[in-house]
Amino acid sequence: MRLAFLGTGAAFSPERYNGAVVVDGRLLLDGGAPLLPHMHRCGIDPGAIEAVFLTHFHGDHTLGLPPFVLHRVFVDPRPITFVGPEGLAARMESLWAVSWGHDWELAMRDRFKVTYQEAKPLGTAGGYKYEAIKLDHGTSGSSGYRIKVGGKILAYSGDTEATAPLDQLVDGADVAIVEATGPGDVFSHMSWEAAKDLRARHPKTRFMFNHLYSGTVEGAVSDLEVVEV
Ligand SMILES: [Zn+2]
Ligand SMILES: [Zn+2]
Repeated sequence: MRLAFLGTGAAFSPERYNGAVVVDGRLLLDGGAPLLPHMHRCGIDPGAIEAVFLTHFHGDHTLGLPPFVLHRVFVDPRPITFVGPEGLAARMESLWAVSWGHDWELAMRDRFKVTYQEAKPLGTAGGYKYEAIKLDHGTSGSSGYRIKVGGKILAYSGDTEATAPLDQLVDGADVAIVEATGPGDVFSHMSWEAAKDLRARHPKTRFMFNHLYSGTVEGAVSDLEVVEV
């Protein structure tokens, strides 16, 4: 499994780009980073992404997507599947319309070969089987994913508090990409102390922490880091 971290920062991190991860050049997990230039720097073909998994609709997880979508409209029109929480299609279509105005409807919409799939408890997207688990994050919550990648289980949290569903998400996973926003009291997110405790409860899982606001913590990944697992 090849994991490319296009961004590893929290929403208003002064040091890191907003979050996005590419798995094996085929799956995109959230889309906050400057996707096209960062894919380019990591040797990833943006036309080869088959599925995008969105945990929730906050801007730091979605606002890198409009240029990526335009690439799929004008440069490489291969079909793509978006997986995300309830309301996915309407939220995404309004983001494309806000980004590109009337031109979206007039010249782009018909050329975008997208399938929107609201996350199911068990589903398949881009040929990958996944399990979705609802996590606690603000008023909307967040959809965490357990994705089967080449015989391994990859758990991906997006934003979450350190509550029981997060333990369920990472339980038995080979690799877990989990947020760890900062030390102390971080409202609606996981603290570094809770991240350390989570890792101690699941010693067989390899943890990679992202969504950092400032500084770093043991197990954290960096912007543009590529990890082979
Ligand atoms: Zn976030
Ligand atoms: Zn959020």
